[in-house]
Amino acid sequence: MRKVAVAVILMKSMKSRALSTLLDGNTLMGGRWVGAASGARFDVTDPAEPTRVVGTAPDMDDKDAAIAIGAARLGFEAWRGTTGRERSRALKRWHDAVMEQKDDLAALMTAECGKPLSESANEVAYGCSFLEWFAEEAPRCAGGVDAVAADRRVLTLRQPIGVAAMITPWNFPLAMITRKVGAAVAAGCSTVVKPSEDTPLTALALARLADGCFPDFVLNVVPCSRDNAMAIGETLCASPDVRALSFTGSTAVGKWLYEKSAGTVKKLALELGGNAPFVVLDDADVDLAIKCALQSKFRNAGQTCVCADRFLVHTDVYDAFLDGLLKAEVNVGPLINPRAVSRVNAVLAQAETLDARVHRLSGKDGPSFVPPTIVELHADTLHQADCWAKENFGPVVALAKFEGDDDDALRIANDDSGGLAGYVVSGDVTRGWRFAEGLEVGMVGVNEGIISHCQTNFGGIKTSGLGREGGSRGIDEFLEDKAIILGGFT
Ligand code: ADP
Repeated sequence: MRKVAVAVILMKSMKSRALSTLLDGNTLMGGRWVGAASGARFDVTDPAEPTRVVGTAPDMDDKDAAIAIGAARLGFEAWRGTTGRERSRALKRWHDAVMEQKDDLAALMTAECGKPLSESANEVAYGCSFLEWFAEEAPRCAGGVDAVAADRRVLTLRQPIGVAAMITPWNFPLAMITRKVGAAVAAGCSTVVKPSEDTPLTALALARLADGCFPDFVLNVVPCSRDNAMAIGETLCASPDVRALSFTGSTAVGKWLYEKSAGTVKKLALELGGNAPFVVLDDADVDLAIKCALQSKFRNAGQTCVCADRFLVHTDVYDAFLDGLLKAEVNVGPLINPRAVSRVNAVLAQAETLDARVHRLSGKDGPSFVPPTIVELHADTLHQADCWAKENFGPVVALAKFEGDDDDALRIANDDSGGLAGYVVSGDVTRGWRFAEGLEVGMVGVNEGIISHCQTNFGGIKTSGLGREGGSRGIDEFLEDKAIILGGFT
């Protein structure tokens, strides 16, 4: 009965029947479409109306995960022997299949993660760009050769690491899977993907569209409820067969996975939380600063790890910048779940106890929504404010004024345990460049609010993570170098 209800609800928001009829409630594991061995399922709800169930997914547990790892091991034996060109073609087929269903995928994503439809459509294109990118990388990642002497050569073979596991978040339900899986399968790895409990349906749809593109067992998807996430995480970390783990999510869970992976000395890619500074220098074009701020802050209602969080604006341009933000029209969707709404509201209430001025812009009403909000903080209580000290993961601009020089701004911007993204706006490119060099982060937007592209080596420093995704380095996470020293030349 559930299955019928799911199809009816989803089809209302989908243009064609093609994708909704593909979502039959099962997941791809070991080359078959199956449910959890226990038969358990869990509900997926609409963030805009958390009581509305939009679908269900199999609630896999640690035993299912062990089966998926076993299947992926078999998949690896087949896939590792393919040529880069073959893997490239497979990725292109997947890319084309996803693009063919782009409208339905966008509707599905909006239904389960709440972002506005236009943002979901952008995500499909962004997510697909990784499939195309890694299709292009696949034939060119095999290594190189150097001569050390007339009779001796050193070769570096770059070989796929083995079974790769991915644990993905809800805020980019499609792109975080394609960014990881695209790189892994391009390298010749097989995969086990555990999608977020909030957005498993997009993952299942992606798997449907991948079915037939790769040999059986290369892609295995183990959706689960939050209750089973830890047991599955533990199984993936403890398995000696899983040689790489790529995770995007909270810093707390990332640290836990890091610890749990010590026993098997796994290769880890961790893309964790940020608390991005956004610095507006005194020579900035204020209109440009506002445009970049809006792009960076309010994407996905502020729920991305590279969203600008801490806005540090020179006193000379502060009033004009604030004025521009107050007049902005912003379309933000609901937060992912009621827990997130309570957390963001608590952060705002705490700021008010510090005498911060809180400006709520107009936005959609309802218990799932937090309107775009600007919080003017005082310099002397800046670090006590939760919205400054921690990533707020909501549509909240934490705003502070600075009067000193660029080094003062840099000191404040770098005063954070993490370092994922940062932004600076300056009328002088050299000054912006110097500032970017001094920022302790993995990625910097200089006069630019959008930094995530398939070409970007995406990742952070300090507690924001390990490794890089996408770009020229993303495939490295799934390759091992082997040096072969060849002697005996005559
Ligand atoms: P959020 O709170 O924003 O969902 P999380 O870091 O908790 O961020 O979740 C990101 C992903 O990590 C999700 O797929 C979630 O199910 C998964 N996850 C959470 N806790 C664990 C865990 N202990 N082991 C493995 N995966 C986990």
